[in-house]
Amino acid sequence: MKGTPFDFFVQFHLTERCNLSCRHCYQSAAVPEMGFEEICGAITEVKKTVQGWAMDHDIDVSPSLHFTGGEPLVRQDLFAVLDYASGCGFAVSLMTNGTLIDETAAREIGHARVADVQVSLDGTKEAHDSLRGRGAYGRALDGVRHLVAAGVEANLNVTVTRRNMSQTGELVRVAEELGAGGIAFSRLVPSGRGKGLMDEALTREETGRFYDELRRHRENGKVAVGSRDPLATIGDIAGEVPQTELPVGGCAAGVFGVTITADGTIMPCRRMDLPIGDIRNGSLRELWVESPVLAALRSRESYHQDCQSCTYWPVCRGCRAIALAYSRAAGGSDYLGPDPQCPYQGVSDLS
Ligand code: SF4
Ligand code: SF4
Repeated sequence: MKGTPFDFFVQFHLTERCNLSCRHCYQSAAVPEMGFEEICGAITEVKKTVQGWAMDHDIDVSPSLHFTGGEPLVRQDLFAVLDYASGCGFAVSLMTNGTLIDETAAREIGHARVADVQVSLDGTKEAHDSLRGRGAYGRALDGVRHLVAAGVEANLNVTVTRRNMSQTGELVRVAEELGAGGIAFSRLVPSGRGKGLMDEALTREETGRFYDELRRHRENGKVAVGSRDPLATIGDIAGEVPQTELPVGGCAAGVFGVTITADGTIMPCRRMDLPIGDIRNGSLRELWVESPVLAALRSRESYHQDCQSCTYWPVCRGCRAIALAYSRAAGGSDYLGPDPQCPYQGVSDLS
């Protein structure tokens, strides 16, 4: 009964060490990181899970591993890990701050069968350097140039705040000039060190305006302009929401993927900081079915208020990490409440 492949991904944090110390980083404290053998064991466990699904349910699974950090290039064994992962049949991508990618590193990444490299860019020079440190902008752009010269697909990733929300046009032009494959935007999650930037997070109105503008750039840009934010495409799909009580799009946490952190902890999404297991102990396949947190993320009934009754629930569910971050800021721990930045709340009830 094969049909559309199930695109399953694991965001795999290889380290929490980093050569930068960004003000909006979602990490808060360092953890002991897994060694090479443990990482290979974790990759093998993911492979076993995916193969089990394909065999038992007669489905095609298209699995990918997105390696990141901290800064993944600080790990001496990075290329051995990438090699092991692609040898296991995974599509492999790398998420980096770009500042450590010189000509040699870019060539090595090219040889490592990495499908694409996502480089963080958080605004034009002044905005980026104010968050990531002086000189970080220029070094990130050099990293992208080296990747492009080595024939590696490089994409830019922007964390959107009030500081950079009006720079979209300029950033799209930067992506075009660099020869990047595309540029993607996602909202700031005010957790970890990013808690200090709560007042830079977008309001509902700003979020709505930002994604309206992004839509115009998407239509006119010479590079791919996009976002994995569930709210980014709601404006495109009005009236065409699949009638189902199953999540079929939107927030990927626990639905299309999970995160493994540097010490082996499994979370629905790295930005949620909600441990549900340990890849070194127990079966990922069992956890995928048995975790109460994952079950709640997939069930409309567990959600509260606007998201629960919303027409767009199957294709959206908001950003669970942002919902949790705001709840924690108010002293709670609710990851199933409304997305506090959703401009569509109250206009999309089923009732
Ligand atoms: S109310 Fe929730 S599900 Fe509906 S559009 Fe907003 S964030 Fe998405
Ligand atoms: S919780 Fe937010 S950041 Fe994580 S997958 Fe969902 S939408 Fe993306």
